[in-house]
Amino acid sequence: MPRSYYDNNFGHYDIEDESDVESYRDVQRRSVLKKCEGCGNKVRLLPDYGYCNSCAEKRERGQDLEY
Ligand SMILES: [Zn+2]
Repeated sequence: MPRSYYDNNFGHYDIEDESDVESYRDVQRRSVLKKCEGCGNKVRLLPDYGYCNSCAEKRERGQDLEY
């Protein structure tokens, strides 16, 4: 059974493979608490990410962000 994971960089996803769990944990370790440039929420993101997952999805869909 795959387990569900969540992180602010990539959103929800299912992981079945133990090695993928490791890379998930690695992403979590490298993430830092920062303010999302879209919604202003404090989220755990990789240092080179500026937006949380929901803002990133909105940007991908070309929607304007709410401030
Ligand atoms: Zn955001």
